[in-house]
Amino acid sequence: MLYDYIIIGSGMGGLAAGLNLIKHKKKVLILEKNSLPGGLVTTFRRGRFEFDTSLYYLFDYGDEINPGSLQKLLKEENIDLNTKVTDFNMRIHDLKTNDDFMVNGDFDSFRIELEKLKMDSTPSINKLLSIIKEIHTALECFKNNDEAYTKYPNFLKYLDKYTNEALKDIGMPRETINRLCYMWVVIGCPINKLSFIDFCDIMYKMIYKKQVVATSKALDFSLKIADCYQKNGGKIFYNSCVSKITKENNIYLIKTVDNLEYKAKNIICDVSARYVNKYLLENVSKEQLKLDNARSLSPNCFVLYLGLNASYDKIGLTNYHYYLFDDLRSDMCISKMMNTNHHTMEAIIPNVVNEGASPKNTTILILKKTFYYNEFSNLNKYNYEKYKEEMAQNMINDFTKYFGIDIEEYIEEIEIASPKTFRSYVNTINGSIFGYARSSNDNMINRLISYEDEKIPNISYVGSNAVLGGFINNAYESGYYVTNKLLEKEVQND
Ligand SMILES: Cc1cc2nc3c(=O)[nH]c(=O)nc-3n(C[C@H](O)[C@H](O)[C@H](O)COP(=O)(O)OP(=O)(O)OC[C@H]3O[C@@H](n4cnc5c(N)ncnc54)[C@H](O)[C@@H]3O)c2cc1C
Repeated sequence: MLYDYIIIGSGMGGLAAGLNLIKHKKKVLILEKNSLPGGLVTTFRRGRFEFDTSLYYLFDYGDEINPGSLQKLLKEENIDLNTKVTDFNMRIHDLKTNDDFMVNGDFDSFRIELEKLKMDSTPSINKLLSIIKEIHTALECFKNNDEAYTKYPNFLKYLDKYTNEALKDIGMPRETINRLCYMWVVIGCPINKLSFIDFCDIMYKMIYKKQVVATSKALDFSLKIADCYQKNGGKIFYNSCVSKITKENNIYLIKTVDNLEYKAKNIICDVSARYVNKYLLENVSKEQLKLDNARSLSPNCFVLYLGLNASYDKIGLTNYHYYLFDDLRSDMCISKMMNTNHHTMEAIIPNVVNEGASPKNTTILILKKTFYYNEFSNLNKYNYEKYKEEMAQNMINDFTKYFGIDIEEYIEEIEIASPKTFRSYVNTINGSIFGYARSSNDNMINRLISYEDEKIPNISYVGSNAVLGGFINNAYESGYYVTNKLLEKEVQND
């Protein structure tokens, strides 16, 4: 059988691409290396706990009155997600200044916190909010090839600016910048390298579309989407790891590790170009390699999934999110994140916003640390376990010490995911989880402009490594964005 499209991977990007293509009556096959759909959006069980690997916030989902793009796309397919809008609910500890503060409520409460810190920050916050809206509108025009984007002066002004430059330019005090940009520290992207356009895009989604949590498990989310794709006639073959792509007479031959071969006119990859160039294609041109090598990957992460045998309030875990920073200044902090030997990390307690996250009188606690250099790749089978366990213990000790909440005595289950785990589960290069870094020379605009140039004919990319960048909403939306472009092109070529 000759498929119109074969999609490698059933992560959020791959599933969304499949759904859109199947709706347009294309013959589509998804080849997935694992036995379940969803990629990083999955759930695993240990003892009486079901842990979600990711999906702690859904961005750009919105509420009923003001739905975001993700909700709109899911509604089109009648995919119903159980979600709950969640306010900012976090405690932040800065080791540099010993500052310890809470942010609870919606963005306005966060804003009050920022204004309390620096009374003179109000005009710059107002200005930023209006620029965020303007850049969002221009970006939407740009995405849709609408030249109206040229009517937005701030979009043009800040097109190639880094976030810290732009925030200083609008007169924001340094202390306010540090607090406002907390998220980029844990993501591992210093604001002196972060594209201001991408910053505004994410901030727009966080502020105006709110943050939403799914109250059902991550795997249910992925299964619902896969089910919808299959009900519409799409095929998924699980346990089908693609190992080689070759081309004969303009038809792609896609081989899996078990030596099965499939044929397609087009390939869509829900994995990074770096992975495809390195492991699946032969004779990749120097030009293609150069383009890809010019991009940097987002950092790696190390995650501890803990099942605790008491309720979160009994343990004293009252916030959904805890952040521990070596230094709230992102450049200083991230310079320490080259290896694992630092204190910066975050903690998430799903039960605080979703009582049903684990059985009664138990709590799930997720500790996550980000770093650049993947020390794990140098370890062998003898020292890997020891290294992992020492790192896990240090994170538990840090959380206890700096937030004053003793968790150790409650630990009933513990699962550790290192970059090696992510790499072997979803084939992310180097274990990095947020795709390519969002630097100013690789921001959303550059990716949208160079989208066609970077492509090997009839091979496209979706997911967090593609045009719209990391996070679940972007990975999902990219599936639609890229396939709409391909479908338009098919019509033009007819
Ligand atoms: C700990 C953690 C927490 C996170 N929290 C959040 C959050 O709260 N909110 C948020 O928005 N994002 C979060 N993310 C990021 C988010 O999960 C990802 O950006 C997103 O799920 C990526 O989707 P994707 O489609 O790009 O790729 P993936 O999920 O990586 O899917 C790729 C798929 O391709 C398959 N595959 C790979 N190689 C092959 C091959 N050779 N043959 C066949 N199949 C193959 C894989 O098995 C996988 O199913 C988090 C990530 C992690 C790790």
